[in-house]
Amino acid sequence: MAALRRLGVKGVEIRKPEQLDSVASLIIPGGESTTMAKLAEYHNLFPALREFVKMGKPVWGTCAGLIFLANKATGQKTGGQELVGGLDCTVHRNFFGSQVQSFEAELPVPDLASKEGGPETFRGVFIRAPAILEVGPEVQVLADYPIPSNKVLDSNFGADALEEKWSEKKVIVAVKQGNLLGTAFHPELTADTRWHSYFLKMASDVAQGASSSIVAVGGG
Ligand code: GLN
Repeated sequence: MAALRRLGVKGVEIRKPEQLDSVASLIIPGGESTTMAKLAEYHNLFPALREFVKMGKPVWGTCAGLIFLANKATGQKTGGQELVGGLDCTVHRNFFGSQVQSFEAELPVPDLASKEGGPETFRGVFIRAPAILEVGPEVQVLADYPIPSNKVLDSNFGADALEEKWSEKKVIVAVKQGNLLGTAFHPELTADTRWHSYFLKMASDVAQGASSSIVAVGGG
């Protein structure tokens, strides 16, 4: 909400399915995806969220929000977790490990820089962060993260996924597919508002004159 305010946009928090009717686009923030799924289930939000995505309305998922938007989630404790889906990718929920392994990294972001100007890189804040391991043909990769050789990945999390699947040691951390945007990091925790501005443009492209409210759901 604060990041949007910096761009002169007022967001509305969405907690109930019927509130989704009043907004044109949606940000699903970070938090903890199992808890968010339980809350979304309790409030019967999943059908309305899926409908929102299917209608082609712009939706941006950051971190746990990205997990929510993915068609498939892997990694620990994913059993039975419900997802909204729509984004054709496989996300590893806790790829980079637990809270203490949170980190920041400078990410090359060519598409963002060409559309929004500013530096060629974006400072990614990764908090118990997921990573995207696979994407479908419709998905545009906006940022990836080459894993430095000295980076220690927890053997319960990313290290296993890498060994199983990856010869090339890099993972995807930002994607776009039509109306959907996903980032594994937290752009709202930096002073750089370019991802928010990028999403606002996606939203206004789709809304074409209709009032494009930006809202948030869940989080923590
Ligand atoms: N890995 C977390 C999860 O599974 C997400 C962390 C975050 O949103 N910062 O939900």
